Amino acid sequence: MAEQEIRDISVIGGGPTGLFAAFYAGMRGASARIIDALPALGGQLMALYPEKYIFDVAGFPKILAKDLVRDMAAQGLQFGATTHLGEIVTGLRRVEDDGIGHFVLETSEGDYPSRTIVIAAGIGAFEARRLGIEDEDRFEEKGLYFKVLDPRQFEGKKVLLVGGGDSAFDWAVNLQGVARSVMLIHRREGFRAHQATINQVQELQRCGQCELRTFWEVKALHGNGRVEAVTIRNSKTKEEETIDVDAVIPLLGFHSDLGAIKEWGLDTEKADVKVDQVMATNVPGIYAAGDITSYPGKLKLIATGAAEACIAVNNAVHYINPKAKVNPGHSSNLAIFGQTED
Ligand SMILES: Cc1cc2nc3c(=O)[nH]c(=O)nc-3n(C[C@H](O)[C@H](O)[C@H](O)COP(=O)(O)OP(=O)(O)OC[C@H]3O[C@@H](n4cnc5c(N)ncnc54)[C@H](O)[C@@H]3O)c2cc1C
Repeated sequence: MAEQEIRDISVIGGGPTGLFAAFYAGMRGASARIIDALPALGGQLMALYPEKYIFDVAGFPKILAKDLVRDMAAQGLQFGATTHLGEIVTGLRRVEDDGIGHFVLETSEGDYPSRTIVIAAGIGAFEARRLGIEDEDRFEEKGLYFKVLDPRQFEGKKVLLVGGGDSAFDWAVNLQGVARSVMLIHRREGFRAHQATINQVQELQRCGQCELRTFWEVKALHGNGRVEAVTIRNSKTKEEETIDVDAVIPLLGFHSDLGAIKEWGLDTEKADVKVDQVMATNVPGIYAAGDITSYPGKLKLIATGAAEACIAVNNAVHYINPKAKVNPGHSSNLAIFGQTED
């Protein structure tokens, strides 16, 4: 539901970066809201890999992606940031009313007035790459899945994974002991996955626990109402084979689209928004953080997104009120957390 109240900061994207931006806004006493196209908070972590462990977030030797999102949401929303889920941001306009002016973010559900914007839209509104074969839509979620949210869904099933990247190889490993059988096909010889995982899958193949085939791709899906078999084709020999499967999981990466954000006069580089050292875009009052940003040395990681959210929000607070310092001080000293200054 749209709201008429002007917020200090509207965050586009409720992934880890957007959640940390909401936290910092609250810590600085700025009102905030998060708008996300997906039905749940968490961005890529919830949409793509909720059951995977993450090992490179400060303070956690390892943590499940879904647990990190749960804790980031508890931290991020503690100061009353509102969330507007299932709403895609479609437009932005500037209103010059009281000499200061503000933005109005337009979504599929309405208008959101805001003094500043933090774009934490990750890889954009993202969509899994499809197989490009007939009947794909008919079988979706009926034996054809473009992501694995809960591995238990594949308990006792004959699974065909398609792809040569991290997701396909990770699931070839993680579905061991869950699925009845796992086959992984890739249309080329080279893989994009981490070498350690490739080695693991090759070892599983040697032990007969996984079948790995290169130069094979999916040609057709068969079944009465749901996938029961699949025809795969060897791109070199043109040989075709039909095998019984319960589930086909293409993990071929994503199309990402900045969508409306491209139309806002922002400097971009490929699908990313260019920012300076304070995470400001070329449009005053619009900041960006997380996977969507581009600058020399950029790393697309949860850790860097969090740092960028902190920089973006503290500079947005200073932009709204030039008397407010950019430096937030140390949280361990702040009255907002019931602490007293050293
Ligand atoms: C399989 C996999 C494993 C990974 N493992 C790790 C890891 O171990 N460690 C690590 O640091 N990183 C890892 N990453 C990368 C990490 O997930 C990203 O760096 C992180 O999600 C970026 O967070 P973000 O909030 O910037 O963007 P995202 O998580 O992409 O969130 C952006 C949000 O913005 C929303 N959005 C986009 N456009 C719009 C719009 N127009 N309107 C409304 N909402 C919009 C999207 O729906 C999305 O929810 C992994 C990624 C993948 C795919």
